[in-house]
Amino acid sequence: MAGQRKQWMSLVGGNPTAMPAIEVPNLLKTKKESVRTIRLRLLPTKQQDERLRKIADICSKLWNEVNYVRRKAFFEKKRVNIEETYKEYYERYKKLVGSATTQQILNKNNEAWNSFFKLLKLKKESKLPPSIKKPTPPGYWKDKILGKRIKRIIIRSDRYYVEQVNSDEGYITLKDFSVKVKYVGRIKWSGKQGRLEIKYEFNRWFAYIPIEVGVMPSKNNPKGYIRGGCDIIQREKLRGEEVAFIDMGLNNLFAVVVTSGDAILVKGGVVKFEYYWWKSEKRNAQSTRDLMRNNGLKVWRRFHRRYLRALFKSGERLRHLYRTAVRFLAKELHERSVKNVYLGYPYMITQDNGNEYNTNIWWFRKLTQWLYDVLKEYGIELLIVFEDNTSRECSICHVIHEGARVYRGLYICERTEKRINADLNAAINIAYKVSYDIKNIKKIESFVVTHNGVKTVTPLRRGIAQDPAVKPRL
Ligand SMILES: [Zn+2]
Repeated sequence: MAGQRKQWMSLVGGNPTAMPAIEVPNLLKTKKESVRTIRLRLLPTKQQDERLRKIADICSKLWNEVNYVRRKAFFEKKRVNIEETYKEYYERYKKLVGSATTQQILNKNNEAWNSFFKLLKLKKESKLPPSIKKPTPPGYWKDKILGKRIKRIIIRSDRYYVEQVNSDEGYITLKDFSVKVKYVGRIKWSGKQGRLEIKYEFNRWFAYIPIEVGVMPSKNNPKGYIRGGCDIIQREKLRGEEVAFIDMGLNNLFAVVVTSGDAILVKGGVVKFEYYWWKSEKRNAQSTRDLMRNNGLKVWRRFHRRYLRALFKSGERLRHLYRTAVRFLAKELHERSVKNVYLGYPYMITQDNGNEYNTNIWWFRKLTQWLYDVLKEYGIELLIVFEDNTSRECSICHVIHEGARVYRGLYICERTEKRINADLNAAINIAYKVSYDIKNIKKIESFVVTHNGVKTVTPLRRGIAQDPAVKPRL
């Protein structure tokens, strides 16, 4: 990893203090800039549910079969023949699930393989971004523990349409399957609909619809325009030219410093609690499951279900909290006349614990993506700064103090004895990495994320650049 990092740095300039920021699209984006994906909950009738299950099972089987032959070729160090396998499985499945859906699943598998090959190529050229540990070939649509296929359907953009009954519900018609299924959820955007993905997530069906905001559909598919909310992404005008720097974490979800001298702490609050609560729920269910399974007790399946439930619930709850925080932060930054935002992106090389690393990096990417998308609504640009010492470095002396101490969330400078909120210290270091010297922090405003929105926190103890002991204002 260290070697990889070195090569990456020589690629971008070599000197860590002069490291350029990277645009988010180069790092994360796989979709078009103007595309926003909405998620709707489907409420099928009993018959529709059975029908969806059958279709989804065939789709999943197709994905797994074509993926198996491709993986086999890859691991046997043979050429993965995308075209030939495509043809073979298209012929085999078009009668089972229709030509449009067969084609969509195969296309998606092609995309997955092509991006895997692209990463392998980058790796060979030592150009792999430090956030990617190791490229892995596309996986199966399968629950590894149960050995069962997971249920997923893909519908081509012209093979379905959405009818809204009111702003919170309506129907989605799948033309090839004569299914008209009810949905609930708000459609926030207007524009051209893309490939619909239907996923079964812990007893619930969800529809994911990418909308190319403001774009009209092609003439042969007039029904492919979804009329939701906005048909432009940027709805607000920039107010000024300030620059903000963000350190993301679990205690402080966002620690922000602005060139104007403002500092904002968005505290995770319940995020941390929920994170650890569900983590232990998952771990407990897992260990009980494995214990029973190893002893041949059939009830292990019940604990696997409990594990899946915790996985789903934690995702839902964290998603809600994170999205609330992202919306709030974007609005705050806009009101503070921010034009550009630099976000510190950790290497996380010290975390060798595979699971924790994957969970964290997954949420980190998700949060970055959401932040990028929501900031766009205000015309604010998000850039990435790779960092790995920003939390250990002193933002006053710009060195890593030998005995650097972090005490109760405070970074204590060894030379000046000054104390500064540890996360703001990191945010100032991120600024320094892209040549901004922030010295004028005036006051810190603290907020806390809850399930009912973001609340102001009243400091009990005031002090310059110091993390106040806080309690929520009720
Ligand atoms: Zn210092």
